[in-house]
Amino acid sequence: MTAKTVFQRIIDREIPADIVYEDADCLAFRDINPQAPIHILLIPKKGIADFEAIREDDEAILGKLLMAVRRIAEILGLDKGFRLVLNNGRDAGQEVPHLHFHILAGRPFGWPPG
Ligand code: AMP
Repeated sequence: MTAKTVFQRIIDREIPADIVYEDADCLAFRDINPQAPIHILLIPKKGIADFEAIREDDEAILGKLLMAVRRIAEILGLDKGFRLVLNNGRDAGQEVPHLHFHILAGRPFGWPPG
């Protein structure tokens, strides 16, 4: 059996997290090592490791994640804008093998990203 990821342990309430949004399919909480004044991680409750692991029947979940981004932006009042990041795979620096969006806000962001 593979070990649970840290995000699965947060979903299962085995370790604490500062949760800002939850619905039947998604969970969002503050990043433990924030890279901006506001740094939220948004994950599906289903343990999808990365884009390669996405299946046809995950289409609805992917849509729900983007709807959750919209709701979180409203809840947190991100009216000046935000950066939405998804690190997929080794070259992108993905550390946790559980699909997740970073929602970053509270300062201006440069482009291109590092
Ligand atoms: P990534 O590099 O895209 O896989 O991002 C993983 C993110 O998870 C990093 O920004 C970490 O700071 C964050 N992280 C790791 N463990 C925790 C935790 N227990 N609670 C909140 N965020 C975490």
